[in-house]
Amino acid sequence: MTLLMIPGPIELSPAVLARAAQAPKSHVSPPVIEAFGQSLTQLRQVWCASDESQPFIVAGSGTLAMDMAVQNVLDPGDVALVVNTGYFSDRISAMIAQRGATVHTVAAPQPGGAPDDAQLERALEQHRPKVLFATHVDTSTGVRVDAAKLCALAKAYGALTVFDGVCATAAEELRMAQWGVDIYLTASQKAIGLPAGLALMVASPAALEARAALKHAPMMAIDFMQWLPIMRAYEARQPSYFSTPATTLIMALQIGLEEILGDQFEDERGIDARFKRHEAVATHARQRWAQLGLRSVAAPGLEANTLSALYYPEGTTPAAFLDAVKSQGVIIAGGLHPQLKAQYFRVGHMGYSTTRPDHIQATLDAVAFAVKSFQ
Ligand SMILES: *Cc1c(COP(=O)(O)O)cnc(C)c1O
Repeated sequence: MTLLMIPGPIELSPAVLARAAQAPKSHVSPPVIEAFGQSLTQLRQVWCASDESQPFIVAGSGTLAMDMAVQNVLDPGDVALVVNTGYFSDRISAMIAQRGATVHTVAAPQPGGAPDDAQLERALEQHRPKVLFATHVDTSTGVRVDAAKLCALAKAYGALTVFDGVCATAAEELRMAQWGVDIYLTASQKAIGLPAGLALMVASPAALEARAALKHAPMMAIDFMQWLPIMRAYEARQPSYFSTPATTLIMALQIGLEEILGDQFEDERGIDARFKRHEAVATHARQRWAQLGLRSVAAPGLEANTLSALYYPEGTTPAAFLDAVKSQGVIIAGGLHPQLKAQYFRVGHMGYSTTRPDHIQATLDAVAFAVKSFQ
């Protein structure tokens, strides 16, 4: 058996896997209508979102979810501010530019860092953006931003907030309603614990108003206006059609979300248990990395709980190191940040595997084996 411990796709629970292996069902069949409707309601719980917020489940990737968010809140000519912490922040900046909007950036001084508050406030003051974008966890650096603080700053300047949660949702604490997030988006293959193929997001009433006020509609396939009646119909347990939903994945999503919301860890239940579980596993992993002398790309205090980005030890090459880990039955990932790509590797620790101490132990041991084989 080989364990897939990269920052997505990840190992799946047996129940999710069994559901995802069923024959396709019609999008108007009662089991799909029920799974769709229930999943929409449960997204609000996983996102800690208000009853007035609107969940969307569409076929697609994390990248599609990012485009969907950008195009539904920005018109050509609008002004946006991007908090840049790595590769995926670069991507959202490029998407905003492609929409014809103006992008301003506050960037970390070096990869592994995050912009400081004073820098951010100056940019908000100077540019008065319509929307602030940030990557909750940037998968290229393993940096987690302080989403609650970014929301408070953005609100003080009247900006909407959009977070790319692709490597964070259902693992890193995020309280959409309480913190004032306007769009929080993810994809199914990361901490949600499904195969790739679903773009998932929840939009606040203010985000829906921003879409309604646009002069230039988004591409039809990602337009909130096209999908709103469909989502509302399914949540009311009515069949509906605009574009065929990924019915197999939606059947599996029902199980995946039930597992997340049914979790228990220490004194917590549901999504709070998931947050705490990821924190505990990440803390344990970080202790082991420190014992092995491995250095984190993310600066102290900024390390995500969903993955570790670590510099290779001296005296190895990326291919040799990753092969040594693989020889122990564990697949991890190489670097992704363009400036550092060949200098570090990434280990995912999210979703189902965080409920399996044997997965985590095997992963830590495989990395330790590789470190020791090059000493
Ligand atoms: C994986 C990831 C994406 C891209 O998702 P795809 O499904 O590969 O398009 C975007 N943002 C972050 C933070 C990610 O980790």
